[in-house]
Amino acid sequence: MHTTCPSCAAINRIPDDKRNQPGQCGRCKSVLFNGDVVDLTDADFARFVSKNDLPVVVDFWASWCGPCQMMAPIFKDAAAHMPFDARFAKVNTEHAQGVSGQYGIRSIPTLIVFHQGKEIDRLAGALPAAQLQQWIRQALLKAKQ
Ligand SMILES: [Zn+2]
Repeated sequence: MHTTCPSCAAINRIPDDKRNQPGQCGRCKSVLFNGDVVDLTDADFARFVSKNDLPVVVDFWASWCGPCQMMAPIFKDAAAHMPFDARFAKVNTEHAQGVSGQYGIRSIPTLIVFHQGKEIDRLAGALPAAQLQQWIRQALLKAKQ
């Protein structure tokens, strides 16, 4: 499978027997599956989302949004729990207005799960940790179908 490096955006090919290992970027040597949340912008969003064979869970947020602030640590925690199941990213809707417009983000936080560039599922509003992870897991199952 292919995945984009969270640090330099290089596309890395991962052999099937190495899918559950942290991995290392061929270009910049950063850890590929570090369980972190990647910040995406208008400039790198399309490449990161479409060049990944792993689903990408994206949190659309804004600095002035209270529920977004509450969601941030919960989302980070979910990312740390499933480093090999999906990539986790966030988009600041105040800065990345192109991407936010393209996907019609009207309320925040909004979560969208993408697989190979296509939207698989979407959730508007914040959820407590357990429900959020449950929602992400069922969205990831849809991506496998
Ligand atoms: Zn890299």
